[in-house]
Amino acid sequence: MAQRSIAIAGGGIAGLACAALLARRGERVVVFDRMAAPSAIGSGLILQPVGLAVLDEIGLAARMRSLGAPIRRLFGRAMPSNRVVLDVRYRALGGGAGEGLAVHRGALFEALFDAAREAGAEMEGGREVTGARDGRLTFAGGAVSPRFDLVVDALGVKSPLARHTPLPPLPFGALWCNVDWPDGPVAAPFDPNALEQRYEAARKMVGVLPIGSLRAGEQRQAAFFWSLRHADLAAWRAAPLDAWRQQALQLWPQAAPFISQVTNRDQLIFAAYCHGTRASPASPGMAHVGDSWHSASPQLGQGANMALLDALGLACALEANRDISLALDAYCRSRRGHIRLYQLASWMFTPAYQSDSRAIAFVRDWLMAPLSRVWPMPKILAALVAGSIGSPLSAIEATRDG
Ligand SMILES: Cc1cc2nc3c(=O)[nH]c(=O)nc-3n(C[C@H](O)[C@H](O)[C@H](O)COP(=O)(O)OP(=O)(O)OC[C@H]3O[C@@H](n4cnc5c(N)ncnc54)[C@H](O)[C@@H]3O)c2cc1C
Repeated sequence: MAQRSIAIAGGGIAGLACAALLARRGERVVVFDRMAAPSAIGSGLILQPVGLAVLDEIGLAARMRSLGAPIRRLFGRAMPSNRVVLDVRYRALGGGAGEGLAVHRGALFEALFDAAREAGAEMEGGREVTGARDGRLTFAGGAVSPRFDLVVDALGVKSPLARHTPLPPLPFGALWCNVDWPDGPVAAPFDPNALEQRYEAARKMVGVLPIGSLRAGEQRQAAFFWSLRHADLAAWRAAPLDAWRQQALQLWPQAAPFISQVTNRDQLIFAAYCHGTRASPASPGMAHVGDSWHSASPQLGQGANMALLDALGLACALEANRDISLALDAYCRSRRGHIRLYQLASWMFTPAYQSDSRAIAFVRDWLMAPLSRVWPMPKILAALVAGSIGSPLSAIEATRDG
């Protein structure tokens, strides 16, 4: 069968997963990214059972499990009351339904990059994509690519191929950094298999996520984060770092072993979050995957998982359909429902953890938290976090089987 040529714009999680899955299916794949060389940057994220199923398909699940930290519980307390207001346990799903795996973003990137290269995908770094037309990509400086049968837009939330006007950032983002997981008795209060957070109403949040090691044999780390209003970023930068450290310690004194490792402001990177979904992930000759189709705050920890599911959905649809427009229709059908559900859930849950509203925090603490402990809510919440409500895996499999 004749090979189809596929240009993948963007070599992040979605783009590299597409490259690995499509090249392995015999397509000719070229990945274009603005980064001159791959680099393992970023903090950490949680891979949910649905995302791990895609990594299994790519042949990377064992590698990621050997590096990452299994996550069995998401846990949070409101301060100063110390009330437990978030307690989601994967074991509520019942035996064998899986758990999360928190990983260093760089570890996931390196694994996907290796898989794409080994499958035969070509990589073109240092290419700033500015547009696409008739199967060709245009680059900063005016260069134009050869013509491809399909262009995959995996350029992330600011993709110039997806939106004419950029999505506005949500009011709250977060400062993130990686720190070493402490050794000895100071680590005792921390569960090495839990994402843990502390809140003051919904306007302050501090969290620790164990993420394992970047590479085999290296120090185990944690992603440490502090919620911050976009509008307060300049004031945060202008104030002494110690003033911030005192605030963080006041909210969560036991987190001192993590907070004390932040000695330089540059360790903390501000991540802005956006929320938005394109009406359709496809147009003639082009598919959008990952954040270029749908982006959300990471409160539900689904973005990377959705990107991986998109990649599998697209690869299976192309495998089943030689005709690209039929394949794109099948891709949309297999992913649309799940994306809508999770975009809605992210939109609903985000203000409960990041907003100025006292009323929403009150409802979270005095209504949602008690309700979340009543059957069948523990199971529903665990399934929501695991990505398995309306799981698209069987729909994707059905696409592949024709
Ligand atoms: C702080 C934070 C925490 C998160 N935590 C989680 C979590 O726990 N679990 C989870 O599932 N998700 C999480 N997410 C979301 C997740 O990281 C994203 O959904 C995911 O990275 C999207 O992947 P992507 O490949 O679509 O986009 P990206 O990862 O943004 O990749 C886009 C790629 O395109 C390249 N690029 C961009 N523009 C251009 C251009 N014009 N020309 C050429 N190249 C370009 C970039 O260099 C990059 O390589 C988190 C996100 C943030 C910000």
